Amino acid sequence: MPEGKIIKALSGFYYVLSGNETVQCRGRGVFRKNKVTPLVGDEVVFQAENDKEGYILEVKERKNELIRPPIANVDQSILVFSAVEPSFSTALLDRFLVLVEYNQIKPIICITKMDLTNSEQYDDIQSYANDYRQAGYEVLLTSSETEEGIKDLYPFLEGEISVFAGQSGVGKSSLLNVLRPDLELRTNDISTHLGRGKHTTRHVELIKVGDGLVADTPGFSSLEFTDIEMEDLNFCFPEIQQKSEECKFRGCLHLAEPKCAVKLATENKEIPVYRYEHYITFLQEIKERKPRY
Ligand code: GDP
Ligand code: ZN
Repeated sequence: MPEGKIIKALSGFYYVLSGNETVQCRGRGVFRKNKVTPLVGDEVVFQAENDKEGYILEVKERKNELIRPPIANVDQSILVFSAVEPSFSTALLDRFLVLVEYNQIKPIICITKMDLTNSEQYDDIQSYANDYRQAGYEVLLTSSETEEGIKDLYPFLEGEISVFAGQSGVGKSSLLNVLRPDLELRTNDISTHLGRGKHTTRHVELIKVGDGLVADTPGFSSLEFTDIEMEDLNFCFPEIQQKSEECKFRGCLHLAEPKCAVKLATENKEIPVYRYEHYITFLQEIKERKPRY
């Protein structure tokens, strides 16, 4: 039986990409009994009626599932942050990084609007980029205006399902426009749907970009740490996690514990102070979170 990936779901039809062909499928079979609703991003087994039409027989196990937008098997998230307009915020970036890491999705940091920076701002961004690279993240510096750094994005997209994330107005739709100029998406500061007017129907679709698939709707619209526990936070800051192996106490939260290697590394500037401060802020936020019943 042929296999493929759902790239679009609309009016009861699932559009399954198999090789270079898209087959319009209806649902039928085992997954109905298991009450599994196929999602965009699902790997499926289907039966072809002809070249263009078929039936989905089976939905393969998902590695993850985003709620907004509803999409399965997300490999990575391109965290889009503008260098200026709006100005670059490490606090917001760290928040996105925690949410993405917690969902076991690989983050890629993409800093846009580099063409608008003056030399001082440019140097600041370079310095932040180095901090995040040191922590183990991929950081790309781009401009949708001059197309600086855009071609560096393609290799990261290859073979993966990617979802853009980031504040509105940072340049997510502009980026997609440069990556797929033939789509002629409208740029828009208010819309949550990448470059599409807010009146269009809300459905997510995976768009081919180079040799990868990119969701046309940004993810991670809620920035609250609803499920994350204090102990999880360590794992969402790779450089803190690495250092924590040298802390005296197992399960050290790097607050007031004695012989904390993380605090020492922050004092020695091995860990950027702002990263440690954001870790502490988030820890406090989780601690004060109202219990959910
Ligand atoms: P989104 O809300 O994240 O999708 O942001 P948009 O793509 O709609 O961009 C918001 C505004 O920033 C628009 O006016 C874009 O033209 C502008 N913009 C986006 N990227 C760049 C860039 O790299 N350089 C410059 N100069 N302007 C940009
Ligand atoms: Zn510690």
